[in-house]
Amino acid sequence: MPLNIAIDGPAGAGKSTIAKMVAKKKNLIYVDTGAMYRAVALYILRKGVDPADIEAVSKTSKEADITIGYEDGVQIVYLNGENVNAFLRTEEVGNVASKTSANPAVREHLLYLQKQLAASNDCIMDGRDIGTVVLPNAKPKVYLTASSEVRAKRRFDELVAKGEEPDFDKIKADIEQRDYQDMHREIAPLRQAEDATLVDSSYMTIEEVVQVICDLCE
Ligand code: C5P
Repeated sequence: MPLNIAIDGPAGAGKSTIAKMVAKKKNLIYVDTGAMYRAVALYILRKGVDPADIEAVSKTSKEADITIGYEDGVQIVYLNGENVNAFLRTEEVGNVASKTSANPAVREHLLYLQKQLAASNDCIMDGRDIGTVVLPNAKPKVYLTASSEVRAKRRFDELVAKGEEPDFDKIKADIEQRDYQDMHREIAPLRQAEDATLVDSSYMTIEEVVQVICDLCE
């Protein structure tokens, strides 16, 4: 049985940064499921489909063939054969992904790919429903969170470092709206699995969080 570690939590909690570091330390592949939902959202955007139109999203998402590869340990997401990594991390794509990921057809489409990756690789997978739906037998499971204030501040600082002039209140409002959407959808809502360990990173360093997760693997 491959080693499968599950990390769930809200947007901006630091899941991907932490998971990448744990993957390196423990020689696992890192599976970023949010990037898969973002790739579907990108396709919906490119096709000009209204993210709120359930039928059109269901139909259009079936045309999006998502596959995953690795180059130097970095996950590459291919959308119908095109490497789309460079287009996935915008606010627009994230906000659309939060809407289209509530669509049952979109979730079904990606669930199979995620389960397959975990069945054949030692991996650490992060997302919103990994411990509850995708990998119910993962061990350990971590629910990584931080206050919305802290998460917004981290995002704000990232954008400032890139030379942008972000609006803190807008970033915080977007984060809170995404939390609400992810936690209140009917299918696979974001919640802490019963057997997951809660880690609140609000006042922890990245290294401290990585250490907690590595200790849970022992
Ligand atoms: O983690 P990230 O911000 O990249 O995820 C983008 C969106 O994809 C999330 O807001 C969430 O709605 C969705 N998602 C999901 N299930 C996952 C991973 C991400 O619904 N396992």
